[in-house]
This record gives sequence, structure tokens and C-alpha cells, in this order.
Amino acid sequence: MSRLDPHSYFDTDQPRTHRLALEIAVDFQRQRVVGTARLDLGGPSSGPLDLDTKALVITAAATGAGQPIPYALGAEDPILGRRLRLDLPARTAQVVITYETAPEAVGLQWLAPEQTAGKRHPFMFTQFQPIHARSMIPCQDSPMVRATYHAAVTIPEALTAVMSAGPQEGGGSTEPGMRTMLFEMPQAIPSYLIALAVGDLASRDVSPRARVWAEPATVEAAAWEFAGVEEMIVTAERLFGRYEWDRYDMLVLPPSFPYGGMENPRMTFLTPTLLAGDRSLVDVVAHELAHSWTGNLVTNATMDHFWLNEGFTVWAERRILEALHGEAAAAVSWAIGGTALREAIERFGADSPYTVLRTQLEGVDPDDVYSSVPYEKGSLFVGLLERTVGRERFDRFIRAYIERFHFTSITTEELMAFFEQQLPGVAAKVGADEWLHRPGLPGNTPVFRSEALETLTVLAEGWTGGARPTAAQLKAWSPSELQVYLQHLPRELDEASCRWLDGALNLTARGNYEILVEWLTIAAGSDYEPVFGRVREVLMKVGRMKYLRPLFGALGRHPRTRALAREIYAATAPSYHTLSRRVVESVMEKYDG
Ligand SMILES: [Zn+2]
Repeated sequence: MSRLDPHSYFDTDQPRTHRLALEIAVDFQRQRVVGTARLDLGGPSSGPLDLDTKALVITAAATGAGQPIPYALGAEDPILGRRLRLDLPARTAQVVITYETAPEAVGLQWLAPEQTAGKRHPFMFTQFQPIHARSMIPCQDSPMVRATYHAAVTIPEALTAVMSAGPQEGGGSTEPGMRTMLFEMPQAIPSYLIALAVGDLASRDVSPRARVWAEPATVEAAAWEFAGVEEMIVTAERLFGRYEWDRYDMLVLPPSFPYGGMENPRMTFLTPTLLAGDRSLVDVVAHELAHSWTGNLVTNATMDHFWLNEGFTVWAERRILEALHGEAAAAVSWAIGGTALREAIERFGADSPYTVLRTQLEGVDPDDVYSSVPYEKGSLFVGLLERTVGRERFDRFIRAYIERFHFTSITTEELMAFFEQQLPGVAAKVGADEWLHRPGLPGNTPVFRSEALETLTVLAEGWTGGARPTAAQLKAWSPSELQVYLQHLPRELDEASCRWLDGALNLTARGNYEILVEWLTIAAGSDYEPVFGRVREVLMKVGRMKYLRPLFGALGRHPRTRALAREIYAATAPSYHTLSRRVVESVMEKYDG
């Protein structure tokens, strides 16, 4: 037996899934997905085959020819779920498992009509990263296993399904009121990139290879916000090589989606909080798009190498932004990332193992230690390598890296061996071992400066001493610059300061969530009553973890706001995603009194 992924029962000595075929129905009444999963093993096999499951009800297992396969579910592990061990008869090339999901499946969120923009139809979406595909599909749920997939998805006739796959003709209706949609994913992907959403969806083309999907009420706004995506794809191709996934479509989800975006191939999932109305938050799209190379083509072998996905992608995202909007704009983005990183390191403690890049997460739930560290510390390490060897050589390396490892899943050690071969001696020179294996931030962390940034931070840090921006400065700032300014203000201000800021910048009324939430975090943490209504409104609506953590954190500072937080959470918890609830509960556990 050889298990190399601490978060999966996948055994490298057993056959691997090469192709997956799903035949499933989405049952909104019972909040279950019901059907079969057929796993093609790429050739005849026999003996044990271990699959991951979480809260699945397995009703049958058989070979492709219909011969029953003996199976047993192991004991429940709180992180991994239950191992499904099949005992394959001789020459088994396919297994077909009949099953259904549980209503509490962590990878699925079911929304009632009132939780959608249109309020008329229910909605369901999946979020499988890091280890939740097993709550919808019995599978080898490790990024080490890549498979193509086919899906036949039966849904209520009035709704539309999208997947991280190409739609196929055919399907149709077999029972009244229902229809079946077909999907084909011809490129081999890890299980965490399988994705499904079902709801009342409309679409708009924004380029010949890019389309925006959303509820009818939001689709026009979404198409406008993301109209520039083709330019981003072209820019990314120039930097990282050909776009290999044919289409780049995007789905804007209802507001309870716990992340900013999820890079499901061919169908990026996005939070509606990006719809700022001024195209100022499209860096999240640059990020998800960049995953088409770093993450989806070259994938972390396990969650212990998650920084390979995210560190390279944040670096790539900022290279795209720099190419499109210039060095100063990229510097602002590095500054915002730096603040998030400092907060994460402070939260864990500078000597915490969760501030290490190459982690050891055996026995640890990756959702419990999710943070900016793999993203921001990872991207700083990549940025340091780039600075050390020079941009031209580093860009050649990146292209060689993607070409060498595309459609594979690799470890930090494999990356570094290839790096040493391509650019000998550089890793030792920058202290790569310290970067990868030690907590906190090394002394040679690169700094991205610009004159504008300098002015902003000096001004903000001088607040207590009486420094105030002039009307001309306020007018000239981009939304991201304003965000940096707010981030550098003291976390707690007196009432007059709060009133001045809101008066000068009209912050409480903002529709740009990065600015709004930064402001509400300061104001709520300052016990500033005029924003309480807006805080409630945001928390009742939005489930993005990035916003819940600081807002609920700030509400913990004062007795009155703690009471407010508890009252809001009691009302809104049922509408949050499981992952969002876990974040809020971990924050509220630390409240005093
Ligand atoms: Zn990412």
C-alpha cells in the first residue's frame, strides 16, 4: 500500500481512473444528487480499489459488464470521510457505482429561491477544492489523479446546468418537467476541478471564446464588468503560452459563494461582489484566468504543495495586470496582497507551521488553515526568483516549466529540481530552503514600490498626527489606491474621524466591496453606530469568506458590536455556505464575554 496524499485514500499501487462518466439527476426537493459514476481504469485490473467518499449513500457497485463488485465502507474520518474499498474481480476495466449524496454534502450548496437574485427558482452549485469532490462523486479525490469526464445531468426543465466542461448536443427529456444536458471534458483534470451549477441562468458572449453566465437579473451587469476578458486572455497567452482549454466562460454565482473565484476550467466561478460597476475588481478574473496555466495545467500534487497553484498564479495575475495597466498598478496590487499576508501571519503567529510554503498537513483539514500565505508568500518567492535571474530569463523558465509539466500534478521538490536544472545555483543564492520550509517571512522579501504608494501610506500612517488627504488627492485615487489608503489607517478611530472619512469619501454607500468592507471593518471596529445598518445588510447578503472574517473580527472589539454580530449571525447562518459558517464560528469563538 502506498498513500502519498494525506487527504485522500488514493493508493498509488492501485489502478488509476482515466475517465469518469456521471449520469446524475439533481433533485432540488430532496437536496440530493442521485445517479451513477462510471470509472474507467485504463485497462483490466483486479484486487482492491480505494475511493474517497464523504456522506455518500452507496447502493450498488458493478463492473462495466454488470457483474456485482463486493465493497465496504470504512469508518468515518472527520477530515477524509469514508474509504470505499471495492474488491475488483479479475480483468475489471470499468466500475459503475450507484449512489446518492447527503443534504449536508460539504461540496454542494443548495439555495432556496429567495437566496437568488431572481427569487423564483432554486440554485445549486459545487465547490470541490480542496477535498470536496468526494461529497458528490465516489472517486480518487487526490490532485495526483487526472481524468477526462463526461456527464449527463438531469435537471428541472426551467433551469440550466453549466459544468467545467464543454456542452454537448443531445440530451433531451425523458420525464415530464425534466431535461437532461450533456457535457464533455476532453482534457484530463484533477477531481477538484469538476464543477456543476444549476439555476435560472442566462448568458452573453463577450468574445468569440468567452461567455458570461449569470442569473437573468445580473447577466447584463456581468457582461459589462467582464467585457475586457479577451484582452486579458491574449495578454496571458503572450506571457505563458497558448490557452489550452478552448473556451474561457465565466459564471457569476449568487452572493453566498464563499470565494472570490474558483478556476474551474472552461467555466470560472465568480462572486457577484466583483460587479462593482466600474470594472475595478477584475483582477480576480486575471487570477482565475492565470490558473489556466498555473494550477490547471501544472497542478499541485497534494494540498501540501498548494502554494505551487496559488503562489505562481498570484505572481502571474500581477504580471497580467502590469502588462495591461502598468507597473504602478501592479505595485498597488502587491501592496494589497502584502497587507493580507501580514494579517494571516499575525493570525497564525510568525512561527506557526501554517506560515510555511511547503506544508505538512497530515491530520489537518486544509479548510481550517486556508489563508493568504500560499498566495502571497508564494508569489513573493516567485517574484524574488524573477528579480534574481532577471525578467527575460525568468519568463523563459516559466514557459519551459509549463511546457515540461503541463497536464501533470507535481510536488515542490519536482519544481525545485527542474529549477536547479534550468537555473543552477539560484535557489541556494536566494535561500530557497528558508522560503519553502521555514515559517514567517525571510529577510530578503522583495518590496514593490511606487511613488504613489509611498504618498498613500505616509498619509494614512500620519492620521493620528493630523494628516488628511486634500480634495484633489481624494479625487485622483483609483479604487485600489483608496483601498490601500484605508488599509493603512489605524484599526480604531474616534467618532469625529469616522464621520470625516465617510463625509469626504462617501464610503458607506460604496458598491465596490473591497473599499466598502475595508471601511466597514474600521468603522465597526470603532463602534461607529451609523454604519451598523450597512454592516448588517452586507453580512445578511454576502457569504464571501474574505469579507466575513474581517467584519466579524472587527465586530468582536466592543460589547455592543459583539451583540450585533451574534444577532446577525443567528439570523444569517442558515444562508451561508458550510465553509463560510466555519470561518465565522472560528472568529466568534475568540470573542471575549
Ligand atoms: Zn487561486
